[in-house]
Amino acid sequence: MSELSELKIKLAMSSRMLFNSGLVDYSGHISVRIPGSDHLLILPHPISRATVVPDDMVVTDFDGKLIEGKYQAPSEVYMHARAYKARADIQSVAHLHNHMVAVLSMVDKPFYPASSNPGAFFGPGALPLYMDPALIHTNEQGDAVAKALGKADAVMLRGHGSLVVGQAIEWVFAACVDLEEAASRFYKASLLGPVRVYNDDETQRTMKGRRKDSVVQKIWDHNAAKTKLAGLMGGIGLIA
Ligand SMILES: [Zn+2]
Repeated sequence: MSELSELKIKLAMSSRMLFNSGLVDYSGHISVRIPGSDHLLILPHPISRATVVPDDMVVTDFDGKLIEGKYQAPSEVYMHARAYKARADIQSVAHLHNHMVAVLSMVDKPFYPASSNPGAFFGPGALPLYMDPALIHTNEQGDAVAKALGKADAVMLRGHGSLVVGQAIEWVFAACVDLEEAASRFYKASLLGPVRVYNDDETQRTMKGRRKDSVVQKIWDHNAAKTKLAGLMGGIGLIA
């Protein structure tokens, strides 16, 4: 199987897994850089995230222009494209309208790591926040999101959701799951009183146990199994 075919399969799987986890619905998307090129693969605008298949994927350049595919790219493709353009280390990007992260982005209170498993994935300090609430429909807006992201692994989009980046589709998927769980715990803890946020040393130590290929693979395998059990993995041509 070619590398491109494998990436298309993983994109279809991760899209259905994000849907099954409640992290995307009719909107939201995950993409991957085509290795050695200035192009990305992303699921198309009109296709359900619950039923997308590898052959549906479309190719755009880093200006968001459609290069290949029978459908339009998502209207917010620009934040994917410009993140890849800004950072050579990014291999995969997800944009979520994730509920709890959107809620936290609406209050004037920084979102710090404060719980070991999900909270430690993103490293020390508060998660960056992109303040403009408008949807991202231009390269200029995509550049502004990439600037707010900086060197981080995720950025909250005020009143909107988040952008999550990483070194592989599996890593981005795991980060999406962790981010929403961390946000949910942070929100609930905030209702009870001041949150005991982790200092930099505590975050570094807990992060060491979290940011590993073995942990990412475990999160991926668990969610792949859960999505299959839900009857949502048919017709993809799963990777052995
Ligand atoms: Zn959006």
